[in-house]
Amino acid sequence: AKSDGRRTYRFFESGMDARAKARRSLELELRQAIADGGFELHYQPLLHLEAGGVSCCEALLRWRHPERGTISPADFIPVAEDTGLINDLGRWVLDTACCEAVNWPEHVHIAVNVSPIQFKSETLALHVAAALAASGLSPSRLELEITEAVLIRDDEAALDVLHQLRALGVRIALDDFGTGYSSLSYLQRFPFDKIKIDRTFIKDLAGTGASSTIVQAVVNIAAASDMTTTAEGVETEQQRSMLRVLGCTEMQGYLFSRPIPAVEIRKLLSSHRER
Ligand code: C2E
Ligand code: CA
Ligand code: CA
Ligand code: CA
Repeated sequence: AKSDGRRTYRFFESGMDARAKARRSLELELRQAIADGGFELHYQPLLHLEAGGVSCCEALLRWRHPERGTISPADFIPVAEDTGLINDLGRWVLDTACCEAVNWPEHVHIAVNVSPIQFKSETLALHVAAALAASGLSPSRLELEITEAVLIRDDEAALDVLHQLRALGVRIALDDFGTGYSSLSYLQRFPFDKIKIDRTFIKDLAGTGASSTIVQAVVNIAAASDMTTTAEGVETEQQRSMLRVLGCTEMQGYLFSRPIPAVEIRKLLSSHRER
């Protein structure tokens, strides 16, 4: 079977050549950037809809490429996942985000995205514990954002890791809710602390579609199971007021702030503090 595979590969090689080469060079550049510190975290605030203050900031990865400028995570995370580099990169994100958050007011949480690939490594909980210990951050201030992909294959091992993380005292948020193979059964399989409602539903909130009904249903289910809700991608004042009416807990989006560098988020948090 192996030699057949090789023959098949050769057969397609000419057509795949350019794409495979581009990918290979991206992989090498990623490796180099991990070694050289070519990455930066930006932070985007989440606001409590009732109280109005910043309750959390999400760390979002940026690659400062020497020639191509800043590269968006959507363009390199998939390659980092395919090559396993996401494990090293994800560990750097965890360490950096926890160290940054200790500079913030104590009530402000830090949210970190965790790739499904990181869940396949047995060391995730160890790395989270190490990041907490090294930074001195209180575990209850760390929120890990995971997607449904983690739970899709009824993966006992992934559930195990989730319970290990919960045992450390960190919070778990379900990211991009409503996209993909989303199903309410995921909410039963694991008790999340927070549901992040995907931007697609927020975009159409004021429209004629079913979005507001869906958001209302998610908010109700969350409240019944002691989970909070965050609306992603809030861009207009109208969306904000709708979300308040619907009883959503938090909002995140360009309306209040884009993701910004660490220095700027510190300024934003200190000027916001007195409110
Ligand atoms: P996400 O976790 O769903 O992050 C939210 C994305 O929406 C961010 O894109 C953010 O900049 C963008 N966004 C926030 N507010 C608005 C808005 O009002 N309007 C619009 N149009 N967009 C908004 P970004 O930073 O490009 O990140 C894209 C994705 O890359 C993230 O989606 C996440 O899945 C992934 N990602 C980013 N950083 C990391 C990381 O450190 N680790 C992992 N595993 N994935 C990451
Ligand atoms: Ca996220
Ligand atoms: Ca999201
Ligand atoms: Ca997303």
